[in-house]
Amino acid sequence: MTVLKALYGGTFDPVHYGHLRPVEVLANLIGLSRVIVMPNNVPPHRPQPEATSAQRMHMLALAIADKPLFTLDERELKRPTPSYTSETLKAWRSEQGPAQPLAFIIGQDSLLNFPSWHDYASILDNAHLLVCRRPGYPLTMKDPAHQAWLDDHLTHSADDLHRLPAGKIYLAETPWFDISATLIRERLQRGEPCAEMMPASVLAYIEEQGLYR
Ligand code: ATP
Repeated sequence: MTVLKALYGGTFDPVHYGHLRPVEVLANLIGLSRVIVMPNNVPPHRPQPEATSAQRMHMLALAIADKPLFTLDERELKRPTPSYTSETLKAWRSEQGPAQPLAFIIGQDSLLNFPSWHDYASILDNAHLLVCRRPGYPLTMKDPAHQAWLDDHLTHSADDLHRLPAGKIYLAETPWFDISATLIRERLQRGEPCAEMMPASVLAYIEEQGLYR
């Protein structure tokens, strides 16, 4: 059987346990052996990350150093301009061929605003969506048309994700982590502890670089 491959995009400013732990559980639940983490270039009209691209990349490398499930992909960071997820997945699909099962991992908050993403419908032409729970975000969409889109693509079968190349949305029963990068940046600025929210190596690097002060 072909092995399902998954990409996980985000700003990771900084990476934290809310990014890593639900995905580790997800991988066990559905039998994922590899997750490719892909930090993004933030479009100029959106608030810019506080850490540089190199620092975000370095923090991710530290965070996954002892976790063979994860690998890093710099393709979006290395491009001179921000890339749309739809374009990245189109390119990945053409590299991997039409039969390879591919997936994109997001948190529940991202699913809720997913219909506002550029060319969102085409994302499911190229990949499945694997959604991790996140506390404080409902499991249903506000707009009935978006809920109908979700219902149309929903699957409860991990087999579908391995059998089909793309097109399914899987809401994984992953544990809740009430952590966000925003919360961490705010806590660090106030000098509050964050040791339980992220790997010690990442926190040590943040301190050494004087980030988020
Ligand atoms: P910020 O607070 O700066 O907006 P963030 O913590 O939400 O950042 P991102 O880098 O924007 O992190 O998120 C990357 C991906 O990780 C998104 O799909 C997001 O939904 C998911 N994610 C982030 N935090 C969690 C969490 N605590 N639980 C589940 N998913 C999460």
